[in-house]
Amino acid sequence: MSTFPDRPVAVLFSGGDSPGMNALLRAIARLGLNRHGVPVLGVREGYRGLLRAARRANRGEKDLFVMKQEIGSRKGRWGLIHSEQDVIQLDHASVSGIVGAGGTMLGSARCLEFKKPEVRAEAVKLIKDLGVRALIVAGGDGSLAGAQLLEKEAGVKVIGVPCTIDNDLLFTQMSIGVDTAVSTLVWAVDHFKDTARSHKRIMVMETMGAKHGELARLSAIASGAEMVITPENGPVTMPQILKLAETIKTGMVCGRSHTIVLVAEGVQFEPEHFVQGSDPSHLPTKRNRAYVLADIFQSYFHEQEGELKDLEVRPSVLGHLQRGGHATPQDCILAARFAQQAWEAIMDPNEGSGITALRQGRVQLVPFGAPDMPERAEMSAEFSRLHASLSSW
Ligand code: ADP
Repeated sequence: MSTFPDRPVAVLFSGGDSPGMNALLRAIARLGLNRHGVPVLGVREGYRGLLRAARRANRGEKDLFVMKQEIGSRKGRWGLIHSEQDVIQLDHASVSGIVGAGGTMLGSARCLEFKKPEVRAEAVKLIKDLGVRALIVAGGDGSLAGAQLLEKEAGVKVIGVPCTIDNDLLFTQMSIGVDTAVSTLVWAVDHFKDTARSHKRIMVMETMGAKHGELARLSAIASGAEMVITPENGPVTMPQILKLAETIKTGMVCGRSHTIVLVAEGVQFEPEHFVQGSDPSHLPTKRNRAYVLADIFQSYFHEQEGELKDLEVRPSVLGHLQRGGHATPQDCILAARFAQQAWEAIMDPNEGSGITALRQGRVQLVPFGAPDMPERAEMSAEFSRLHASLSSW
C-alpha cells in the first residue's frame, strides 16, 4: 500500500543535460501540487538513481517500508540534502529559486545496463511498489527510447519530455535547451570575432551536434558566422574542404577582416584518416573536427603567395560549455508548456503515454515512435539557404 495520500507522479532526468531542465522540474512540481493536488517524486540521476533505489527497496518488504518512510519524512530540501536518498518527495520550497538555473538539480546520468530487460524489471517493480501513477522522463532520444520500453513493461503512463541542445528530435520543432545553447554560441562567436578581427584570423569553432547540424546552423544565422559545416550532406571530402578554403581566401582578398567557421561535431570526413591521430604507435584516436579543418586550412594558406601566406587559422572546441548557463526565457517558457501538457495527459483518463512536442507553435502529445515532421527537414534546408544568402563573400 502506498504511504502517499494520492498515487504520486515521478520525474527523472536522463542522458545529456540541457539548460531548462530545472525550469521543467519546477513546473512539474508546482503544477502537480497547485493545480492537481498530486504528490510529485523526483528521482536523482535518471535511470541510474532509479535502479539504485530499486536495488535497495527490492531486497524485501522491510527495505521498501524504510524507503517509503524516508521519502515521507524527509520531504523537499530535507530529502535533497541526503545524497543517499534517490527518491525525494518534492514540495514547493524544494523547487524555489531554480527556474532559470542551468544543469539539473536532481542530476542526470547515463546508465548502459538499463538497456537490459532484466535490469529494467527491477525498476518496474519499484515503480509498482511505490504506487507511481505516471513517470515523466526528460532527456534526449536515448532516454526517450528507454522511456518507451518502460511504458510497455511497467503498465503505467510514461510521458517523455524532449530535452537536448542538439535539436535532433525531429518529431518536435524545438526541444528544451536549444535556445539557451544558441545564445551561448552567439556569445562565443562574438568573443571570437573580437580577437579574430584584431589579428585578421580565421577561427574554426566546433559546436555540439552529433547527428544533426541544427545547433550550428541556428547559431551561424544568429551570430553572423560566415561559414557553417553540418553532417546532413554526408561526409566532407578533401576537394570540398579545399573549395571552402578557396571561398575563405576570396573573402579575405576582398577585404574581410576575419572569418568564423562553425563545424558541428558530427561532421564526418572522407576518407576518415583525416581525423586519426598521427602517431601510429597509438590506437587511432579521433581528432576534433575543428582541429582537422584548421590544419587543412592552415596548410592551404601556407602554400599561398604574399600576405595570404601569413594568414593564421585557429581552432576551438567549446564542448560542454554549450550545455551550461542560465536558461533563456524561451527555454523556461517551453519547459512550463511541456510540463503543463505532461500533466494534462497524466490526468486525462482517455489519454495514453506519449511525448510532449511543439508543432506549428502548439504544444501537444505525440506517441512514442512518432515519425519525423517533414517540416523539420524543409526548415533545415531553408536555414542553410538563408545562411548562405546572408553571407558576404
Ligand atoms: P540522451 O537521452 O541524451 O540521448 P543517451 O543516448 O546516452 O542520452 O541515453 C541516456 C540513457 O538512456 C542511457 O544511458 C540509458 O540508460 C537509456 N537508454 C538509451 N537507449 C536505450 C535503449 N535502447 N533502451 C533502454 N534504455 C536506453
